[in-house]
Amino acid sequence: MSAATDTIAAIATASAPAGVGVLRISGPRAPAIAQALLGRAPRARHAHYATFRDAAGEIIDRGLLLAFPQPRSYTGEDVVELHAHGNPMLLQALLARVIELGARAAQPGEFTQRAFLNGKLDLAQAEAVADLIASTSRAAARAAQRSLDGEFSRRSHALTAELVRVRSWIEASIDFSDEDIDFLDNAALRADLDALRAALADLLAATRRGVRLRDGLHVVIVGQPNVGKSSLLNALAASERAIVTAIAGTTRDVLRETIDLDGIAFTLADTAGLRDTDDEVEREGVRRAHAELARADLALVLPASEAPADVAALLTTLPPDTARIIIHNKIDLVPGLAPRRERSADTSHLWLSARTGQGLDLLVAELRSHAGAGEGSAGTFSARTRHVAALERAQTALQDALAALHAGQAELAAEELRQAQHAIGEITGEFTADDLLGAIFSSFCIGK
Ligand code: GDP
Repeated sequence: MSAATDTIAAIATASAPAGVGVLRISGPRAPAIAQALLGRAPRARHAHYATFRDAAGEIIDRGLLLAFPQPRSYTGEDVVELHAHGNPMLLQALLARVIELGARAAQPGEFTQRAFLNGKLDLAQAEAVADLIASTSRAAARAAQRSLDGEFSRRSHALTAELVRVRSWIEASIDFSDEDIDFLDNAALRADLDALRAALADLLAATRRGVRLRDGLHVVIVGQPNVGKSSLLNALAASERAIVTAIAGTTRDVLRETIDLDGIAFTLADTAGLRDTDDEVEREGVRRAHAELARADLALVLPASEAPADVAALLTTLPPDTARIIIHNKIDLVPGLAPRRERSADTSHLWLSARTGQGLDLLVAELRSHAGAGEGSAGTFSARTRHVAALERAQTALQDALAALHAGQAELAAEELRQAQHAIGEITGEFTADDLLGAIFSSFCIGK
């Protein structure tokens, strides 16, 4: 990691013209640019009132100039911020002037990437910056803030430290194996590995919750035409506990609605009936419904009747590992039928009415518990699927290490632990391929 030699600049906020616009400059030329704009050297971390002029000396705007000398800045480099009026045209003129003075336009995420490269943030924290900016609920924002504060990184580091300790112990046993000291049969070592496995499982569960908070849950509603799928979607969206945040768009075949339950976004998709058909257009609808199913976290299944054959026919259309809730709708048509819930091994059955709203609260509770809201969102940090994938790899390696240890293969066990450590290190960016870094930072917005 070498220090950047060029200076970047970008408009960091683009608020309404009435608001404040911020231009951020970072790199070795930032102090000289600040001096040129201010007419003298700025004081560190001091707000100067400045008149920003173009090359001809004409006023672009008046505003504040703040200098943050390295290394005490966001990027770790010399940083200068210009606060001007939020008019995008003025900000563009100011940016052009700063570029004239020796900066270049920043790429998306480049400021945060430099902060990462200069050790100001680790990778999980850098991602949390993007998550914080993009979060659409208070719960998601709080979680991103916790990741940014280093909560996720601290837990990853604690695990890594323990992995290293156990690995050194095993490696020592290899080095001293001819001295007849049987390290590997040590009960304490096995207990440590078990504790490690439990800690990893805990972190994985918390990470999965973090992903759900960030990405929300995809719920698909399936069933034959006329069973009440769109009525259910509308009833959920209109229920007072749900805030409809967006209508993501209507295609001919899949209607989507995003609702927010306790800070978790649920994207509900009402699919076209999943029957076989010869009709070209309808076949396309069925294909889309299957695509929707393939990425769903949860399916709400509405059978045409309670007949086991009707239920079974619908269930065969689901990918086997998709969680499902069977909904028996239209209870208002059957005298004496009250809302209720029954739970079998991996399936919940709910009786409700989309028309009258009876039993809808049961469904809302079920959705919330599925999202893990009941597990307490306190302490949840934001996370991404790549973090889950890394922890899953670490888990596999740890299991393989335990198996190797049981088989008396100490060297293999040590190697598996090294793999686990490597996988966890990818979360904070200790071990990360350049192309992954590129992919992560290019998804940021410009100016961050
Ligand atoms: P979809 O084709 O599965 O989306 O079904 P719709 O939501 O369009 O509903 C089909 C018909 O059933 C409409 O006339 C709805 O008003 C009616 N319907 C839906 N849910 C209920 C319910 O809970 N009770 C009653 N009585 N009618 C319902």
